[in-house]
Amino acid sequence: MPLIANAYAYDFAHHHLLTEYTNHTGTDHQEIEALAAGLKSLSTWNATATIQTCREACGGKGYLSEMYFDLLKADTDIFTTFEGDNTVLLQLTAKSRLTYFRKQFGKMDWWDTLKYISSIASTNLTELNALVTRDTSEEHLLGDEFQLAAFTYREEYSLRSLAMRLSKKIKGGMDSYEAFLDVQVHLIDMASAYIDRIVLEQFIETIKEQEQNSVKEVLISLKNLYALHRIEEYKGWYLEHDYISASKSLAINKLVSKLCKELKEESQHLVDAFDIPAHMTATALKFY
Ligand SMILES: Cc1cc2nc3c(=O)[nH]c(=O)nc-3n(C[C@H](O)[C@H](O)[C@H](O)COP(=O)(O)OP(=O)(O)OC[C@H]3O[C@@H](n4cnc5c(N)ncnc54)[C@H](O)[C@@H]3O)c2cc1C
Repeated sequence: MPLIANAYAYDFAHHHLLTEYTNHTGTDHQEIEALAAGLKSLSTWNATATIQTCREACGGKGYLSEMYFDLLKADTDIFTTFEGDNTVLLQLTAKSRLTYFRKQFGKMDWWDTLKYISSIASTNLTELNALVTRDTSEEHLLGDEFQLAAFTYREEYSLRSLAMRLSKKIKGGMDSYEAFLDVQVHLIDMASAYIDRIVLEQFIETIKEQEQNSVKEVLISLKNLYALHRIEEYKGWYLEHDYISASKSLAINKLVSKLCKELKEESQHLVDAFDIPAHMTATALKFY
């Protein structure tokens, strides 16, 4: 179920990217390129992981050609490399985020840019409230406010600490190319956190545009599953940074399972909505 939620989340984000691309005036070209690069990376990795999970869910049968997983794998696997290797593309996304701040002040050099990022990010990273870090209520965990705050916190923390690390290296005499090489893993983390935040924002925006309440309700559950599952995947980070308590982490795990059970009833409709041609799903294994 989290993989279906991811498919919806990335699909909505791709629609947003297409709209931005179609309407862009030329001035925000680099931002669109960064979004496309990051989204391509996360969604193609997700496709590869999804096909593998589906193959395993069908056991040994899934390995047979008549199940088509081999074709799907052969067709999608290379997307993580061509049109730009995913890791390299995420570096591009991260550098573009830093350049975005640099451009805001015309002639700012790297040193001033990094100092600037550290200062603006620190104003947003407000002191963590113990009542919030321990709040395990469903109302809180299922709210856009908590989910967006958690995604934004990870992004801003990563951006700020990256700027601090880079400025320390550059101040210490390292040239900027070497400094960027030294923080590669951090760059990728920051880019991924940035894309996650945009994807969640677009999910929330898409829900607002829906007119039918029944559709809205299912999409809200899917959005909750996407967001909470992503937080669950990063729970090590959130726990290390005291953003959530151990009991809150457990409450999120439980809620993810609960959402999976609830959404199970809708799974067939959710997949049918992609309108996948019947001949592509007519496999030897029958699902009931
Ligand atoms: C089927 C197929 C079709 C293709 N079609 C086209 C086409 O039509 N036109 C075209 O121009 N190209 C095409 N390509 C080439 C494709 O774009 C490249 O394969 C892709 O950009 C990756 O480059 P590479 O193979 O040199 O791998 P590399 O860049 O050598 O990457 C190998 C590994 O090193 C890592 N790595 C590389 N650089 C860095 C770095 N700076 N920091 C950290 N890690 C790094 C990568 O993450 C990866 O894990 C195609 C490739 C394939 C397989």
